[in-house]
Amino acid sequence: MNRTQKDRQILFNKYEGKCAYCGDDLKKGWHVDHIEPIVRNWLDGSCKNPHLKNNIENKNPSCASCNIQKNSFSIEEFRYNIKKFVELLNKNSTQYKFAKRYGLIKETEVEVKFYFEKINKQPLAS
Ligand SMILES: [Zn+2]
Repeated sequence: MNRTQKDRQILFNKYEGKCAYCGDDLKKGWHVDHIEPIVRNWLDGSCKNPHLKNNIENKNPSCASCNIQKNSFSIEEFRYNIKKFVELLNKNSTQYKFAKRYGLIKETEVEVKFYFEKINKQPLAS
């Protein structure tokens, strides 16, 4: 088992095979998320927070969809963006508004809480 495989196994076990964000079971092809984003400048090869690049403490296991949605956002920015989804659906989705009008959707004011917070295990870096 090489270094990358070992790190993936450590990260897979970090939340018992669950996505750190939504808590779904990690499936084949799960992603490694940088908790503090590593934003690459493709023009000059530099990146934001380069000291965190290969630091396993800055990584979380993530399902593909959470990782793609989190993109290069911090955890708090990701939380804010998820909360904004309902507002955007109300503004832009006719299907959503209809489903809500006919009682198929009930909105709540719950806080966006990530799986690692629900199980009371903080990421090692923040
Ligand atoms: Zn997820």
